[in-house]
Amino acid sequence: MAKKTVFDLDVKGKRVLVRVDFNVPIKEGKITNDNRIVSALPTINYLIEHGAKIILLSHLGKVDHKDPVKCEENKKKNNMAPVAVRLQELVNTKVTFVNQTRGAELEEAVKNLNDGEIVLMQNTRYEKGESKNDPELAKYWASLGDLFVTDAFGSVHRAHASTVGIAEILPSALGFLVQKEVECLSAAIDNPKRPLVAILGGAKVSDKIAVIENLLKIADKVIIGGGMSYTFAKALGRNIGTSLLEEDKIELAKEFLEKGKDKLILPVDTNCANDFDNPTEIKVFEGDIPDDFMGLDIGPKTIELFKKELEGAKTVVWNGPMGVFENPTFAVGTIEICKAISELPGAMTVIGGGDSASAAINLGFKDKFTHISTGGGASLEYMEGKVLPGIAIIQEKD
Ligand code: AMP
Repeated sequence: MAKKTVFDLDVKGKRVLVRVDFNVPIKEGKITNDNRIVSALPTINYLIEHGAKIILLSHLGKVDHKDPVKCEENKKKNNMAPVAVRLQELVNTKVTFVNQTRGAELEEAVKNLNDGEIVLMQNTRYEKGESKNDPELAKYWASLGDLFVTDAFGSVHRAHASTVGIAEILPSALGFLVQKEVECLSAAIDNPKRPLVAILGGAKVSDKIAVIENLLKIADKVIIGGGMSYTFAKALGRNIGTSLLEEDKIELAKEFLEKGKDKLILPVDTNCANDFDNPTEIKVFEGDIPDDFMGLDIGPKTIELFKKELEGAKTVVWNGPMGVFENPTFAVGTIEICKAISELPGAMTVIGGGDSASAAINLGFKDKFTHISTGGGASLEYMEGKVLPGIAIIQEKD
């Protein structure tokens, strides 16, 4: 069964609570990247055009409720006011910012909403009960609306009052942003056209244990690059020099190698340097890495091997860079793999957020993938085969 979307709701004249992701970077009161606000506009504009009374909720940064001094500092830093200013510039309707997460001023602002207008409330994390999914808080927020729409994909893996609590009470639906995420991730993970090839990279095995485990079950091939590949190389008995190693994960890597057999594809050569911060000697090594060198990118033979393994793939999911891509000298592997995936004919290609998403976007591949996820944590949990509580709670279509 499919989840309801905003199309399934009769929103005219109704108070619609929308959980958006306005967790944007702010420096000295100025938004430095408004991508997340812009991404929420399709749902917001649909609701404006269809005469809903729109109440927007979002978190912004973190608020430490255990330490009163830090709590006040965090609140000052993570004030939603600049977001309201930017939102007002982007929409063709009145935006009222309420510097409250509960109380008379908020209730009054909601009461005064005309059809098609917006109220943006203060940062949901000003409330201690938000991240605990406090039922009393959820009940209060739900009392402000008639309907609930979730459009914050980056937060659906968290069972908070604004992501799950309200949806337990009000009729609910997915916004367009979350709908696209769910459709693409589900097509890639739950119902993939085969062969399904997964490429995993990034720094640590420990961050991606559950992803490797699940993908070894469902993918036809699992390619491993990046910093995490050295723990696998060590498990194979290779010398890895001073490369990134998680000693306590060597046994687990051995288990994965045994389970994965031919499915698991590892690098055959490595681009190495004598120092991370100040590399003066850069060399490619096949197999063993000498004691005084560290692996910072996959080597040219590995790039060719990975490209070959990708040939014919009908679905590709990618999470994690192949090397220290922030340094152009060690970005070659990530760029080449990014390019190879984006050029696969007729394949569905999905990037699971986080560093690989920013790598693909920064390297100019933004429009060359079927989907680049906006939620690192959420898409990782989807790839782990976990249920995302903020989606599970949304009503099914009739
Ligand atoms: P993750 O957040 O787990 O996807 O990891 C991304 C980070 O892994 C990036 O900052 C990369 O610089 C880092 N990374 C990738 N390959 C290596 C490597 N060979 N050595 C050290 N760090 C790496």
